Amino acid sequence: MKILVTGGAGFIGSAVIRHVLAATDHTVVNVDKLTYAADLRSLEQADATGRYAFEQADICDAAAMQAILQRHQPDAIMHLAAESHVDRSIDGPGDFIRTNILGTYTLLDAALGYWRGLAGTKAEAFRFHHISTDEVFGALGDTGQFVEDTPYDPSSPYSASKASSDHLVRAWQRTYGLPTVVSNCSNNYGPYQFPEKLIPLTILNCRAEKPLPVYGTGSNVRDWLFVEDHAAALALVLTRGGVGQSYNIGGNSERTNLAVVETICALMDRLRPRAGGASHRDLITFVTDRPGHDFRYAIDAGKIRDALGFTPSVDFEAGLERTVAWYLGNEAWWRPLVDRQYGGERLGLAGARKTAVR
Ligand code: NAD
Repeated sequence: MKILVTGGAGFIGSAVIRHVLAATDHTVVNVDKLTYAADLRSLEQADATGRYAFEQADICDAAAMQAILQRHQPDAIMHLAAESHVDRSIDGPGDFIRTNILGTYTLLDAALGYWRGLAGTKAEAFRFHHISTDEVFGALGDTGQFVEDTPYDPSSPYSASKASSDHLVRAWQRTYGLPTVVSNCSNNYGPYQFPEKLIPLTILNCRAEKPLPVYGTGSNVRDWLFVEDHAAALALVLTRGGVGQSYNIGGNSERTNLAVVETICALMDRLRPRAGGASHRDLITFVTDRPGHDFRYAIDAGKIRDALGFTPSVDFEAGLERTVAWYLGNEAWWRPLVDRQYGGERLGLAGARKTAVR
């Protein structure tokens, strides 16, 4: 099987490619524009498999998408390319509208044209798998969980753009018959995550003994999923998911943001104690909350468990320890990103809002 993965140089996309190349004999074509969030060093072992190709291209480029599909003749598409950081979507929504909505439309249309040209079993077996987020469902209060048919109620420009793309994917299935499947997952964490996100930012700020920013009171709750578990779940959804179906993927690991930061501090106290013996907890600094910050996300992952047999294998504390150890042991990966791309500055206060869709 040949799988075309969009966004394969990003955090989750690279985990998917590493998983597919290691656990199966499938071939992968990675289509990525290489934005600030991409890093091909996350895929250093891929070339050696002889089952990997890379195409640098923008999913908004219709001619490029059509040409790549014709050249590689994939059996399936896993669509992960997106602008993914909520705070950046608050400062500059244009890139999110462009890539997440217009890019998904462009890719869907190219995939439809390609699929219509396929014959027999190759056409029947073809899948367009759209990878989305639980943020499309909006905020929960203290109780309840998202199920697959929870009404969409996105809050941020990021989640609104992902909700739009989910609707487009379902429309292409219902209107044109394109065999699509959608998955919506909770917050991922693990190795190779760009250091703007909460967990790597906290680890690297602990390491540098810099303040650990916690938004508001730190009481917002997320359901954390180890990225390698997510990659395994996505492979199942692609190969065994039902056409027109969607699957929620969660980690059964709800934690407040403050609890996550405190757990990282405790791990850092053990794995890399501060000179002088103070706890990393002393670095915690409460900062202005994110505008429109959803209070809580929680996934009911019963459908993917019952239908596809997936349950996460990595518990949160073990996964977090692996993640902290990975960042401590892989400075060569993150140092260039911190020095050249993102130095830890606060994003998402809407102070530098750009409006144009480019
Ligand atoms: P990421 O930001 O780490 O990577 C995104 C990748 O997409 C990058 O390699 C980037 O270069 C590429 N890309 C961006 N715009 C592109 C374009 N126009 N054309 C081609 N490539 C482009 O994101 P991630 O965290 O790996 O997320 C992957 C997907 O999973 C996204 O669709 C995201 O919405 C979804 N998701 C992420 C999480 C999470 O916790 N990270 C949770 C749920 C869903």
